[in-house]
Amino acid sequence: MTEIIESEVIRTGTQLRSGSQYKKDLLDARRVWVGGRQVDDVTQEPTLGPGIDLIASMFDDQFDPDLVDVLTMEDPQTGERCSRAWQIPTSHEELVQRRRLIEYTSLRTAGTFGRPPDLAPLVALGMYSRAPLFQRSPAAFSKSNHDFAANIERYIEHGRRTNLIAAEVLADPQNDRSAPAGTAAGLLRIVGQTDDGIVVSGAKSVGTIAAQADEIIFTNLLRPDLPPEGCVWAATRVDAEGIKLICREGVSNPGADPYDHPLGYKGEEADQFIIFDNVFIPNERVFNVGDTELIKLYGACSQWGHWHVLTRMWVKAEIFVGVAQLITESIGTTGIPQVRNMVTEVIAYAQTLKAFVLAAESSGGMTPGGVYGPDINFLTAGRLHSIDNYPRIIHILQELCGQGLVMRFPRAAFDNPEIGHYLEQLLPGHGVSAREKVRLMNFVWDLTASSLAGRTAIFENVNSTPAPFIRERLYAEFDRERMVGMARDLAGLDYE
Ligand SMILES: Cc1cc2nc3c(=O)[nH]c(=O)nc-3n(C[C@H](O)[C@H](O)[C@H](O)COP(=O)(O)OP(=O)(O)OC[C@H]3O[C@@H](n4cnc5c(N)ncnc54)[C@H](O)[C@@H]3O)c2cc1C
Repeated sequence: MTEIIESEVIRTGTQLRSGSQYKKDLLDARRVWVGGRQVDDVTQEPTLGPGIDLIASMFDDQFDPDLVDVLTMEDPQTGERCSRAWQIPTSHEELVQRRRLIEYTSLRTAGTFGRPPDLAPLVALGMYSRAPLFQRSPAAFSKSNHDFAANIERYIEHGRRTNLIAAEVLADPQNDRSAPAGTAAGLLRIVGQTDDGIVVSGAKSVGTIAAQADEIIFTNLLRPDLPPEGCVWAATRVDAEGIKLICREGVSNPGADPYDHPLGYKGEEADQFIIFDNVFIPNERVFNVGDTELIKLYGACSQWGHWHVLTRMWVKAEIFVGVAQLITESIGTTGIPQVRNMVTEVIAYAQTLKAFVLAAESSGGMTPGGVYGPDINFLTAGRLHSIDNYPRIIHILQELCGQGLVMRFPRAAFDNPEIGHYLEQLLPGHGVSAREKVRLMNFVWDLTASSLAGRTAIFENVNSTPAPFIRERLYAEFDRERMVGMARDLAGLDYE
């Protein structure tokens, strides 16, 4: 803490929040339910608190002199330090600079937070990247003449100034998917307007991290039958009147001994079902009202969010490589060719994801809004590879552990004078004590087999749309003309 107060960053002016400031700011009027019970203080709630502590430690890291350049930058307008999460990259080099922050948040959470503090700013960046397209004439549902492009710019400024973290919600409540969008229960829609803003009602189904964040950025996915009043893209404070957050069951191990659950004790990003009951959204937080053309931009705007997802998967794959190596070294199986083959599969997975990220970055380009972005087809193909192969990689890690992944014991068993010595004598690995080997297995359990890991695996599979959608996207967006020409020439085809 002394280091934080004395850091040069503080002395030269800052827009950064400390971890304790972030936690204090969560004590607002938010309405959150866990297990059917309304929560007074989210920071003290077992399902939410440890995850909040982990996020708070990332806020504190912003003041660490060794991390200042990775996590923060100079605000282009005020000259003060602000979070790099809100950077607007205008070149390949700046995109790579911004990626270092993704690597940091991915490593700090071992890839278990898909929506760490630096994810949602990339959604705002996506809108900013197409800002000129948001400068449209007011649509049918716009009572006042909103300048959406200016609102987007203002929002990014607001994010930088306040060190804001947000949830980003799109998915609708899962009910009857065969019902037309307009009649679907819970479709978020505009139900009123005043000169000062709009009023929305409905629900969003998976608001990851909302109860642990300051704001929510929300929209609806475009469907052919989406009614105009369902065309809305906006942001709101989590504690706005009319918002209710219902948390799913917890999946981590709050309060556990770090030996027993080296990952699970650190908590989780929680997912919430979000009710919007006549929520007022001031004009300056509205990015679209009633314009289907703007909703169509969601895919293009999510480019940086998807780059975040793929980068995190790459970092996580490198963690998997390290884990695979540690497992085999600790039980003395590194000399077995079949075992080496399995480790190699994990290495190939990590290298492939890295290649996709680097290729997407280096073959990116500028958007109409003057932002440098990664190439979308490399991202889409990379995301597909990352989720198609994730179950196989998890399976390999589990396979490498053998019985060790199940026959794990808590610290208390080792400390017990009657049984602990048996465990110490009978379970040491190759150059590693029984205690250390079991600790590693406890970590692999948390990473691959626990309820935390189960939620993460499901998250990876669907969070930025499931594989069938991703395949269709690649099919629709990948330009095959040159390749068709090549094949046509080689085959000697004459027809057009
Ligand atoms: C842990 C977790 C966290 C999440 N966090 C967020 C978040 O922060 N923000 C957010 O907006 N969303 C989030 N999501 C939601 C995620 O985006 C959706 O789960 C995903 O887009 C799939 O939508 P759905 O769940 O509504 O699937 P459903 O519409 O209920 O469909 C179920 C399945 O049917 C198949 N299917 C349905 N329709 C089609 C189709 N047209 N083409 C092909 N296959 C189809 C797919 O296999 C799909 O998985 C999260 C989900 C999970 C599980």
